[in-house]
Amino acid sequence: MKIGLIGCGNMGSGMAKQLLSSGYQLTCYDLNEQSIERIQMLGASIAPSLVQLASDSEIIILSLPNAQVVESVMQEINTSVNPDTVVLDTSTSEPDTTQQLAAKAAAKNYVFIDGPVSGGPVAANVGTMTMLLGGDPDGIAKLKPVLDTITAKTVVVGASGAGHAAKIANNMLCAANLVLVSEALRLGNAAGVSAEDLLEGINAGSGRSGVSEVNYPTWILNNDFNSGFTMGLMRKDVRLALKLAESSNVDLIGFQNIADIWLMKSAHIPDTADFNEVVKDQT
Ligand code: NAD
Repeated sequence: MKIGLIGCGNMGSGMAKQLLSSGYQLTCYDLNEQSIERIQMLGASIAPSLVQLASDSEIIILSLPNAQVVESVMQEINTSVNPDTVVLDTSTSEPDTTQQLAAKAAAKNYVFIDGPVSGGPVAANVGTMTMLLGGDPDGIAKLKPVLDTITAKTVVVGASGAGHAAKIANNMLCAANLVLVSEALRLGNAAGVSAEDLLEGINAGSGRSGVSEVNYPTWILNNDFNSGFTMGLMRKDVRLALKLAESSNVDLIGFQNIADIWLMKSAHIPDTADFNEVVKDQT
């Protein structure tokens, strides 16, 4: 099966590594020279153009920064994608953009599936990402061997756009938990409980979360702050949650303060910093 990968950054390069080591014929495209060099060292071929990649691939995987980039890439390749091709968008994107792209794909007899991922570059590198899938069930079924290679768990959450909506809801909780766990630790500290002891208690109790179980021990307490997921990407996701809430007429009263922390109170932390650095202001 010929696979084309567009976007070979932190996540895309990990997926490429898994696909190549499972024997897939992989052709990649990226605008950034460093990304291209890294992917070539893994053994992938580089497509001379997006259009060439599209016309040569039976499955096209996207791992791009945001919905606007996904839209412009799809605009460029729409007429070159072969009928029956499945495009899998693993970017964290926007449900309405995804639905429009899926409709355009259906008109050209190919399929556009949303499959945003969790787990970061660490999971991408070893094929243990979680993927939330939305779209045509036959298209998702065609992806099964590829999904088995790059994920440890997939959840089909509904029709086109549902995967991206679910991913936005998931990351909204992660953003909130980072702020709230850091506040809980500050509270515990003021009452004489160390961060390590409190985390052990929380992780054995009902307050635990991915943030308390994974982020704190892996990237925060040891001061590593090297998860591979940036402040800029999490700020994008916080904005997407607010935008989706507005367009869906849902009042996120509790989340609004948390969003202000990500978008305003921590504005001095650069977009390139690790997203876990948000806790530095809170602790
Ligand atoms: P990244 O910035 O490391 O990689 C994005 C890649 O896309 C870069 O190599 C860039 O050069 C390339 N690119 C940008 N515009 C392009 C274009 N027009 N054509 C071809 N290539 C283009 O980002 P990442 O961390 O790999 O994240 C990719 C997506 O996955 C994002 O939507 C992000 O929100 C999502 N995501 C990231 C993580 C994480 O932990 N890093 C986790 C889950 C989801």
